[in-house]
Amino acid sequence: MEIIDKRNELPSHPTKTYRRRALSAIKNIAIHHSATTSGSAESFARYHVNELDWPGIGYHFVIDKDGDIIQCHDLEVISYHVGNSNSRALGICMVGDFRTQQLTDPQRKATLNLILDLVDQLEHVGINDVWGHQEFPGYEWKPCPSVNMENIRAELLSIQKGGSPIYYRSPSYISGRRKRTYLSIGDQGDDVLALQERLTELNFKPGDVDGIFGKITEDSVKRFQRAASLNIDGVVGPLTREALKSYEAVSNIELASPTDEADDQESMYEMESRRLLRLLRPYMRGDDIRNIQQKVGAVEDGIYGPSTAELVREFQRKNNLVSDGIVGPRTWQALDRTSTRGVPYSRLLFLNNPYMQGRDVKRIQEALTITADGIYGPLTDQAVKSFQRRERLNVDGIVGERTWNRLFQA
Ligand SMILES: [Zn+2]
Repeated sequence: MEIIDKRNELPSHPTKTYRRRALSAIKNIAIHHSATTSGSAESFARYHVNELDWPGIGYHFVIDKDGDIIQCHDLEVISYHVGNSNSRALGICMVGDFRTQQLTDPQRKATLNLILDLVDQLEHVGINDVWGHQEFPGYEWKPCPSVNMENIRAELLSIQKGGSPIYYRSPSYISGRRKRTYLSIGDQGDDVLALQERLTELNFKPGDVDGIFGKITEDSVKRFQRAASLNIDGVVGPLTREALKSYEAVSNIELASPTDEADDQESMYEMESRRLLRLLRPYMRGDDIRNIQQKVGAVEDGIYGPSTAELVREFQRKNNLVSDGIVGPRTWQALDRTSTRGVPYSRLLFLNNPYMQGRDVKRIQEALTITADGIYGPLTDQAVKSFQRRERLNVDGIVGERTWNRLFQA
């Protein structure tokens, strides 16, 4: 069994990190399917980071149809994949949609091997602690992983007892690293050459394709980053590299959105870094209060007094939230959606060539919590589609009145 180590290579959030735990805290292995017919650790990571704004990919391991096992996190990382069981569970995702597809044979073997190896390593995890996502409390409704877990456990037990063909071998770790992680001005080499070829192909005109990362190449990278709604720093890191790969066919970007989207609990975890705001004596003070005052239309003095509390209650009523004047996770989420107040709906917004720009684009980007550069590029298109899918709207990437209203709960 080979494990391809991509723990430091997948797209991850620039500032957020997952919490960690002791190995002894792991009590379950959770099995998922990706619910996509194809996809990879990279594409899931991109989706989890760019669209769901998670610290990194949700799974510890991804197993593709060829039986390749990709390790994405240390086992100690508490990533998001089973809501309020995240802290006790380790996540394995098998690529495929097993509502309609079958596990491939190499994939099945790799999964069994990996599980047996993990059970060996983890003191508090036995075969009976290997659960499908659906078997975790609160997830009875979720068709994940859509394989018969009883059969999987029975097979694992029989391998463990030596009754079945034993294909278990100890793991050997191989690195997934092939290229430098970052390329920037001054770098030279074949990887720069490949970058220039790619930029030329995409018509971002990086100058001579000579393997030397000079000023013209840097400008070209910046123009690409702008077009792809990325941070414009002229440095080719994991996010830019991924965007370069997926950029080609804007019309059929592989979305690879696993079903394991943020649920309520996971959103709550996201909010842990923000404090609860409420009317207290002495009054609470801070920039976070100024921020919400701007959004609810209060005087921006940074003090959570009675008039701010009243406006928060009014905001909560309008947004069908409990009207308690306390800014907790749900109210924060609703406030996040209202940041560019006052920019009205005025036109259809969609991925066009050239890209559409404007304050209305910026407003929807803020609502989607993606980079708000006011340019409707491919990442905005993806985020809109993902939002439409979650909201059971027509998934066309076009922000018309319906999608607009849903974004802002008008
Ligand atoms: Zn799942």
